[in-house]
Amino acid sequence: MSFRVAEFYSGIGGMHFALKGAGVDSHVVRAFDINTVANDVYKHNFPGVPVMQRNIEALPMSMFEALRADLWTMSPPCQPYTRQGHQKGSEDPRSKSFLFIIDLLAKLARKPKYLLMENVAGFDKSDTRPILLRQLLRLGYRFEEYVLNPLQLCIPNSRTRYYLLAILDRPPNGSVSETDEFPPNFRHAVPGVNLIQPAADAEGHVDFERGIWHHDEVRQVKHYMETLSDEEAEPYRLSPKVLEKYDYVMDFITPEDRRTCCFTKGYTHYAEGTGSAVQLTGVVGKDAKTQENTRYFTPREVANLMGFPAEFSFPAATSTRQGYRLLGNSLSVSV
Ligand code: SAH
Repeated sequence: MSFRVAEFYSGIGGMHFALKGAGVDSHVVRAFDINTVANDVYKHNFPGVPVMQRNIEALPMSMFEALRADLWTMSPPCQPYTRQGHQKGSEDPRSKSFLFIIDLLAKLARKPKYLLMENVAGFDKSDTRPILLRQLLRLGYRFEEYVLNPLQLCIPNSRTRYYLLAILDRPPNGSVSETDEFPPNFRHAVPGVNLIQPAADAEGHVDFERGIWHHDEVRQVKHYMETLSDEEAEPYRLSPKVLEKYDYVMDFITPEDRRTCCFTKGYTHYAEGTGSAVQLTGVVGKDAKTQENTRYFTPREVANLMGFPAEFSFPAATSTRQGYRLLGNSLSVSV
C-alpha cells in the first residue's frame, strides 16, 4: 500500500524528489510552504500535489488530522540555528512553527507513524533539539540522528546537515522529564550504504571537508556541469570588479576538482562563504583568472550537485537569482 506523505516546509520539493529517488512507494498528499516563489516551482514540478500556502502555526488541528499521513517530512527554517545567524534557537520567531508542530504531535489522535526532519548541523547544539527529542520519547517514538555530508556519497559538494528519523512503535513514556538531556550521539554511517567515513579528532568531532576533500573516489565536478556556449555563459561570468575585489575571499575550483563549497541562498550575491565559482581553463593562480575563464555555476549545475534529477526544472517566471536562493534553502536530494 502506498505511503501517505505530508511535506512540511516543502520549498522546491527536495524531500519529494528524495522520496521518488529512494523508490519509496508513496504519494505526497499535501505540501506546505509560505513562500509563493517556492510554491510556483513546486507546483511546476509536481502538478498533482495540493500546495497549501499558509503559515503552518496558523493551521487548525482538524487540518492536520485530516491528512491521515503515515510520514511527515520537515525541513524547518534553519536561520535560528546557523553559524551566520544569531543562534537564538527556540527564541527566534522563525522557530515558532516547528515548536508548534512538536507541541501539536501530542494532541493528534492519529499520529504519523514516521517522521523525517532535516536541518543545518547547528541544530545539534540548539535548545530546540532536546525539546523535540523529549517530546518524541514521551509519545513513544524511537529515533536516530545523523550528521551527513554529500561528500560521503562521492558527490563533490559539501553540505553538512542534521537528519532525524523517527518511528512510532512504542507505548507513550510518562517518565521523560523536562530536564532530560541528550548528549551528542550522531551517526555518520548508514547501514547498507557505502559512505566514506570522515576521520574524527580526539573529541570525536568530524570535519567532513578536510577528511574527504581530495579523496580519489569523489567524482570530479565536471560531471555535474553543462557545456555552455560563450553566449550562454555570459550571464554567469564574474565581473572584473568582483574578480579584483573578492579574489581572496571567494572559493575557486576547476572542473577537474573533487569539491565545491555549500551553496547558500546568497550565492552570486555575496562573495564569501556562499558557494564556489569555477575557473574553466584549469589553471590555478590569481593572474590566470580572467573574466573569460571564470564563472559561477548555473542554477542547473547547482541543482545537479545537490542531486536534483534531470526532470527537475524551474518555471520560466523564476529568475536566476530566485533559483539560487531557493536551491540554497533546499537540501541534498542524494543524501
Ligand atoms: N526542503 C525545502 C526547503 C526548506 S527551507 C526544499 O527542498 O526546498 C524552509 C522553508 O520553510 C522555506 O521554503 C520557507 O518558506 C518555509 N517556511 C518557513 N516558515 C514557515 C511557516 N511558518 N509556515 C510555512 N512555511 C514556512
